[in-house]
Amino acid sequence: MRSGFLGSSVGPINLENLRNNAMQDIGGLFPQAQVVRQTRAQQIRIAASGLSGSRVLSPDMPLVELDIVDIALNYPRFPLTGRGLYDSENGRIFLCQGKWCRETLIHETLHSVSFWASRIDMRRRYLNLFEGLTEFFTGYIMFCSHQDCYQAWREERYQKCSVTYYSIGKALGCLLQIHSDSRAFESVFLEYNE
Ligand SMILES: [Zn+2]
Repeated sequence: MRSGFLGSSVGPINLENLRNNAMQDIGGLFPQAQVVRQTRAQQIRIAASGLSGSRVLSPDMPLVELDIVDIALNYPRFPLTGRGLYDSENGRIFLCQGKWCRETLIHETLHSVSFWASRIDMRRRYLNLFEGLTEFFTGYIMFCSHQDCYQAWREERYQKCSVTYYSIGKALGCLLQIHSDSRAFESVFLEYNE
């Protein structure tokens, strides 16, 4: 047994089930959402295995839980306060062991279904906008499917599910009026017409 998802004591976590749940939450609201990048095999370094220690992540592992030390080792720009990341080059979500919650999972899964996943150039240029939108839609999905998480997130009840990119997410919420027009999500986030 381990202390896991949302602090409850559960058996070994089936990450693929959790990712499927997050996909279902997203798909329930936005049926055409689908993963943009295929997951690739990837070699990562593991700190505990010494200088040359590494591990190969196979293409059937689109979601991996890693210690913060190992995330920082492989992604030097990852903030130490971070809870998860989406590697768009390898099409893989990383969750930071002991720090992530449902909000993190939905947020990172949203990255994987967004057109921005295939436009790394745009993502770099408009990082704050991109993250703000992602966080905003994370809140919207929790509002619709997980009221308990939504309330905790909104009130910043727990550090691990507090709002990231708060001001831009909030501003976008007002701007998009998403509650009255969920198609805004489809046109702003999922589809991209060159
Ligand atoms: Zn993000």
